[in-house]
Amino acid sequence: MRSHTASYRPLPPLTAYFIPMLTVTFLGTSAARPTVERNVSGLAIHREGETMLFECGEGTQRQMMRYGVAFTLSEIFFTHFHADHFLGVIGLIRTFGLQGRTDALLLYGPKGAKKVLGAAMQLGVERVPFPVEIVEVKAGDALGDGGRGKREGYDIRVFATEHGGGSVGYVLREHERRGRFDVEKAKAAGIPEGPLWGKLSKGEPIELADGRRLTPDGFVGARRPGRLVVFTGDTRPSASVVDAAQGADLLIHEATFGEEEKDRAKETGHSTAKEAAQVALAAKAKKLVLCHVSARYSLTAEDLVKEAKEVFPDVTVARDGQEIDVPFAE
Ligand SMILES: [Zn+2]
Ligand SMILES: [Zn+2]
Repeated sequence: MRSHTASYRPLPPLTAYFIPMLTVTFLGTSAARPTVERNVSGLAIHREGETMLFECGEGTQRQMMRYGVAFTLSEIFFTHFHADHFLGVIGLIRTFGLQGRTDALLLYGPKGAKKVLGAAMQLGVERVPFPVEIVEVKAGDALGDGGRGKREGYDIRVFATEHGGGSVGYVLREHERRGRFDVEKAKAAGIPEGPLWGKLSKGEPIELADGRRLTPDGFVGARRPGRLVVFTGDTRPSASVVDAAQGADLLIHEATFGEEEKDRAKETGHSTAKEAAQVALAAKAKKLVLCHVSARYSLTAEDLVKEAKEVFPDVTVARDGQEIDVPFAE
C-alpha cells in the first residue's frame, strides 16, 4: 500500500495556488545615451504571461532579445519624448512588421504622442503592416485595454511627474485578492480536502455529506491587497510621485545624479539617488530600484546606492538585464 504512494507529495495549501507572477526586466538603465555597460531606457513588466513595455530607447529591441523578453507584447507606454526614451520604437516596429505581425499595437504617451510617435511611424520606406494606435494620456487617467480583454486583475494609471512637457509616470495596481483560506479550521470542522475547500475559499457556501451547511465566514480571512508597481520615468522628486507610490511594493525611480551634482539635477529636471530615496521613504514604499543613471555611474553605481541607503534601506541600482520579482506582501 505504501509503495504505491511513495512518490506522493502533499499538494501545497490551497492559498498557494494561482499566484500570478509579476516581474520586471530592466532593458536599459543609462541616462541620455548608451554606454558599454548600459543601454538607454527600457523596462518590461511581465504579469501572468502578459508583457508590457515601458519606454523604448534606441536599441531596446536588441536588449529584448538578449534578455529573453517576448516580442508578443501589445502595449508600449512612454513617459515623455526625450530621444533616449523612444527612438527604439522605430526599429522595433519594423522588426514586428518583418515578423509578419498582424495584431494591433497600442502606444501610450503624454500630450505630443500623436505627433512624435506618428512621425516615428512614417520614418523609413517600409510600411507598417499592422494597426498602430497612439493614445495620448494625462495624469489621473486609468488606461483601458482597447477592448482586447486585458487588464484582468489590475489597472494601469497615469500620474504627473516633474520633467516638463506634460511628462507622466505609470502605476500598475493589482486588484484586491481573496482572503486567506484557513486550512486548519477547515480540517477541524471536518471538511474534506478537495472541491469543497475550493468553493469555500472562493466565498461560496457548501453542503457537507452529513447535511451540514457552512458559509465561508470564519474559514476565509479579510481580502488582501494586490501588488503595486510604480515607474516614474524622468522626474524631479515630486509630491505627485509620493502620492502615486503610497505603499508601493516596488518603486522604480530615476536617479540620474549623485549628491555632488544635485544642482545639476535640479537644472535638468532629474533626481539624485538621495532625492529618490526621500520619495520612497515619504511614500512608505517597500522597495526602491533606481535607474536612468548618468554615464559616470555606468560601471559602478555604488556611490548612488550609498547615498540613497542613508535615507531608505531597501534600495539598489538596476543593471541591464536584471530581473526583479515582486512578491505579495501578505
Ligand atoms: Zn532620459
Ligand atoms: Zn528626459
